[in-house]
Amino acid sequence: MSTLRFYALKASLNRKPKFLDETERRSELFGRHVFNETAMRQYLTKSALLRIIEAKDKGTKIDRLTAEHVATGMKEWAVSKGATHYTHWFQPLTGATAEKHDAFFETIGDGLAIEKFDGSQLVQQEPDASSFPSGGIRNTFEARGYTAWDPTSPAFILGTTLCIPTVFVSYTGEALDFKTPLLRALHAVDNAAVAVCKYFDKNVKKVSASLGWEQEYFLVDNDLAKSRPDLVLTGRTLLGHSPAKGQQLDDHYFGSIPSRAMAYMRDLEHQCMLLGIPVKTRHNEVAPNQFELAPIYEEANLAVDHNSLLMDVMQKVARRHEFIVLLHEKPFAGVNGSGKHNNWSLSTDTGVNLLSPGKTPMSNLQFLTFFVNTIKAVQTYEELLRASIASASNDHRLGANEAPPAIISVFIGEQLTKVLEELATVTKGKLSPEEKTDLKLNVVGKIPEILLDNTDRNRTSPFAFTGNKFEFRAVGSKANCANPMTVLNSIVAKQLLDFKLEVDTLIKDKGMKKDDAIFNVLREYIKTSKAILFEGNGYSEAWEKEAKKRGLSNNKTTPDALKVKISTEAIELFESLGVMNKIESQARYEIEMEEYVMHLQIESRVIGDIARNHVVPTAVRYQNILIDNVMGLKSIYGNKYMALAKEQLSLIEQISSHIEAINSLVTTMTEARKKFNAEKNIDKRAKGYCENIKPSFEDIRYHCDKLELMIDDELWPLTKYRELLFTN
Ligand code: ADP
Ligand code: MG
Repeated sequence: MSTLRFYALKASLNRKPKFLDETERRSELFGRHVFNETAMRQYLTKSALLRIIEAKDKGTKIDRLTAEHVATGMKEWAVSKGATHYTHWFQPLTGATAEKHDAFFETIGDGLAIEKFDGSQLVQQEPDASSFPSGGIRNTFEARGYTAWDPTSPAFILGTTLCIPTVFVSYTGEALDFKTPLLRALHAVDNAAVAVCKYFDKNVKKVSASLGWEQEYFLVDNDLAKSRPDLVLTGRTLLGHSPAKGQQLDDHYFGSIPSRAMAYMRDLEHQCMLLGIPVKTRHNEVAPNQFELAPIYEEANLAVDHNSLLMDVMQKVARRHEFIVLLHEKPFAGVNGSGKHNNWSLSTDTGVNLLSPGKTPMSNLQFLTFFVNTIKAVQTYEELLRASIASASNDHRLGANEAPPAIISVFIGEQLTKVLEELATVTKGKLSPEEKTDLKLNVVGKIPEILLDNTDRNRTSPFAFTGNKFEFRAVGSKANCANPMTVLNSIVAKQLLDFKLEVDTLIKDKGMKKDDAIFNVLREYIKTSKAILFEGNGYSEAWEKEAKKRGLSNNKTTPDALKVKISTEAIELFESLGVMNKIESQARYEIEMEEYVMHLQIESRVIGDIARNHVVPTAVRYQNILIDNVMGLKSIYGNKYMALAKEQLSLIEQISSHIEAINSLVTTMTEARKKFNAEKNIDKRAKGYCENIKPSFEDIRYHCDKLELMIDDELWPLTKYRELLFTN
């Protein structure tokens, strides 16, 4: 009997939900473990508080003296909350968050000790960071990297540690993390958007990007998950026959939340409240044991930090409830995988959402300007946007008829399509007063009403306009949102800079009025970005063909998708905006390609091991039982045994043929791995893994899954899909 599986099943069946006593209002809990403005008012001098607010709003630098004040106040606050340690909290390119704790505690001689934390410890640190991926940046320049405080994202306490959000850069200033380029991109889009806003409202001084993510995940019982080496080592199941019941009845989606999961969610939400993560929505998702959690949207940098923190906290809280959280994009074959929709918009310091139409014709023209420019940006840089969500794990989802395809397109709905069509017919050059009035009243003026009943939502689109924001739906569930947000904000920034230049040129050189010039430029943009607009079924084959005709990219695999990152256009784009220099762009490309290969390498080793060392021996054991049975029948019934042993004999032969197939496939895969591991060129190595090694996973799996169906359930060592997905 396969002990571990049955032990795990038994343990999981005895679980009880552990509900948290919720005695306090969430509004009162909110931000209790965050060094937010309320805490700062209590612990900082007035001038230090003002400096911090200024740094957050205007990006000003914090001077040494202020840093000393802040450090003292922050430490006092943290110690009063029970913190004993502090850490610079950052997001290296591994995808996980990184922390190295130091105690506040320091000795001062004579057997005495104090709690100490000073300005220099707050502002900058040098973690021993040689093991973080750098894409060769640290080899070529300085071996060291350092972390530097990001005063725009507030410090928080996790457990008994004060966490200070920081960037992570090399000594020569190259970004080694996700946050640095994001902050630069947000700065770029702020400047570019403010300049465009000035056409409509001179008072606008700052534009912030907002992000509202929706996190999907699976919950699997801890012991059940731990009994599967593939889940433990790769985050997904590499084999397992689909259960008789999957998601075909649609009975999980939005259904009542199972009580153990509910207890987990309440605990998680409690932690989120303390940490100031404004989670609001929770529900069951499509697949069994799949759930979703979404917050109220926030400024993009903070939202990215909060999502990274959330992914960490989710695992921590799960341990208390004896769950494992699967954030992988495709943990189970045959049921839906998980994504992370990124809802994005731009808003001004005057309180206007630039992607939401307003009350006056002028504010609607402003909406239209940002709306059309975003579409144009996606049209120009669709391939780069695709690259921003590429990963070995997301490859399983994109284009698998459950998530958007690998083709990027924009959905805006029928009504807005009509508006754009009308705008595309605007007269070239100066507009007559009548035409302008007509446009403002009947086309632009109608937008708010249109949007009110803009209900036709297309779930197959990777980038959809949903009333007052765009929703980037192809982001992977496990991904750090910083990557797609850096690209999206950069391409929109670049587009807005181009737009401003074109409008200004028409005003200066052609003597056009401001709104004539805007209409003229928008008209051309609408015409040139038609190819990216698509309202139909993104899952269909017809769309693949149509997209090809339109010249849109369809990069189905990560190695194909990533290439554009080192194209001249991409490098120039990021360089011109100050988001990344050439070295940084190239380093990131290399890191992501390496990461792709390593993921596949691990999966390949794991599936080889499970197939050879778990599945084949089990098959042999069962085959021996069958052989004993046949021999027994023969000894009792003599020549008549054949009629009685027909089924057994057939099984014996089938088992042999599957064993043979598994062994030969694993051998071939291992040889291929050896060959491509020796390949020095990363492009060729990644391509080799993608084309020659990855396909064998499915073939090996096929034979293992067939054996699962044949072999005595009691002997099968691997916890089955029905147990992983339906035990809760
Ligand atoms: P869905 O139907 O896609 O699940 P929801 O309303 O549940 O839609 O989720 C929408 C998400 O979009 C939420 O996280 C919300 O905070 C976010 N959101 C709403 N408005 C904006 C905005 N202006 N900018 C960014 N995100 C937004
Ligand atoms: Mg959504």
